[in-house]
Amino acid sequence: MEKIGLNAYVLDTMSHTALLSANRLILIDTAMENSAKTLITEIKTCGYKPKDIETIIITHSHIDHIGGLPSVEEIIGEPRIACHELEVEPIYEQVKVKIHDLLKDGQVYEGLLVIHTPGHTQGNISLLDQESDLLIVGDSFQTVEGEVQPMPDRYNQDPAQHRKSMEKLLGFTFNKAIVAHGHCLHSDAYSLLNKATKNDNFRFY
Ligand SMILES: [Zn+2]
Repeated sequence: MEKIGLNAYVLDTMSHTALLSANRLILIDTAMENSAKTLITEIKTCGYKPKDIETIIITHSHIDHIGGLPSVEEIIGEPRIACHELEVEPIYEQVKVKIHDLLKDGQVYEGLLVIHTPGHTQGNISLLDQESDLLIVGDSFQTVEGEVQPMPDRYNQDPAQHRKSMEKLLGFTFNKAIVAHGHCLHSDAYSLLNKATKNDNFRFY
């Protein structure tokens, strides 16, 4: 577990998941099925009871973000589960979990601004906690040795659109970022993303 800012935790699961604790408990993503136990242990390490989690937000439908959803939902009890409307079907096809709240670009949900960042998957989203200047990106980008990079293109449905979505994030203000893959950024996240999009290799795919 790693604390980022005052009210956010990065949980040490294979694809990182996040726990936000300001005013309410929100879990973002649920990792692989075989990470579910670790995820629950990590929530307790943060000092919280899994049953107190009110909402789970899924950034996208890849199995390393939703595999743990059935087990985690059962342990938590009756959380509300939310994702972008385009991810509802692929999530149900894979893990048979019902989604309660369908998210749209620009909507504020549980205090988080929903930013549709397609390309990695069609309904991929990023979430901005404007009070904490914290962006939770899921797989909207990754970090490798402190640098921001696109996700490897073998995982991107539309590599060109994935790049455009990274550029779209530069329209917002943030300085910290939680990524699912790589180390999280405790500062300078905006400038590191900006630098990545200006890199000569950015458009090679
Ligand atoms: Zn993914």
